[in-house]
Amino acid sequence: MTKMIEIKNLMKKYGKNIVLKGITENVNKGQVICVIGPSGSGKSTFLRCLNVLEKPNSGKILFEGKDLTNISEKELCALREKMGMVFQSFNLFPNMTVLENIKVAPMRVKGIAEDEAEKKAKQLLEKVGLSDHENQYPASLSGGQQQRVAIARALAMDPEVMLFDEPTSALDPEMVGEVLKVMRDLADSGMTMVVVTHEMGFAKEVADEVWFMSDGYIQEKGNPKDFFNAPKTDRAKEFLAKIL
Ligand code: ADP
Ligand code: MG
Repeated sequence: MTKMIEIKNLMKKYGKNIVLKGITENVNKGQVICVIGPSGSGKSTFLRCLNVLEKPNSGKILFEGKDLTNISEKELCALREKMGMVFQSFNLFPNMTVLENIKVAPMRVKGIAEDEAEKKAKQLLEKVGLSDHENQYPASLSGGQQQRVAIARALAMDPEVMLFDEPTSALDPEMVGEVLKVMRDLADSGMTMVVVTHEMGFAKEVADEVWFMSDGYIQEKGNPKDFFNAPKTDRAKEFLAKIL
C-alpha cells in the first residue's frame, strides 16, 4: 500500500484550547476515510491541518513523502494544488458562471489554455450531472447543485486526494442524496478521499476506514462494519447511541 498522507504526532491548539493532542495516522492511496465524531471535537481543524491551511503547533504532515510543515510557501502552494477541498459552504465565485468557476483555477494557477480548461470543465459537469447549467450563475442553482459544482471545481485541478468537510451539512435533506452520489462515484473511481461527515449511511457503505475523533484523539478506527456494529470504546458507544 502506498502512503499518501502521513500524519505524525499532530498537535494543534488555539490559545489554551488543545484541539488535537497527538494524532498519528496514515491515509493510503485509493483509500476512503470517513472522520466522524461529536461537534467541536476537532474534525475541521484536523482536515485543515492536512493541507496546512491551519499550521500545526507540532508534529508533521507528510504528503507523498514531503513534510508540508517544513517547506517553503511556494512548495506548499504547489503541493496543496494536489489536495482538493470541499467545504460545507460551497464558496463558489458568485460573479462567475458555473463553467467559469470550474475553469478559472486550471487556467490561472496551472496556465492551462482556455479551450483545454473548458473541455475539461464540460467533462466534469457531465460527471456531476450539471451539463445543462454551465452558463448559470451560482445564485440561480440549488444548494445541492452548487455543491456539485464545487466538487467539479476541485476536481478540475486533478487532485491526488479530495478532502471534504461536511459537504452535505448545509443542504436541505432532499439534496443530500445527489451530492453523496457524486462522492460515491468518485470513491468508486479510485479517488483517495478524507471525508468529515455526519452521514452514517455513506460512511457505512463507502468508507474503507472510519476514524472516530473525540477529545483530541482518534479514539477508535476500523472498517465501518466493525465500528458501527461493535464499537469498542465507551466514547464511540455513547456517540453512536446518540445519533443512530
Ligand atoms: P468540529 O469540526 O469537530 O466541529 P472544530 O475543528 O471546528 O470541530 O473545532 C474544534 C475546537 O477548536 C472548538 O473548540 C473550536 O471552538 C476551536 N476552534 C476551531 N477553529 C478555531 C479558530 N480559528 N480559533 C479558535 N478556536 C478555534
Ligand atoms: Mg467542523
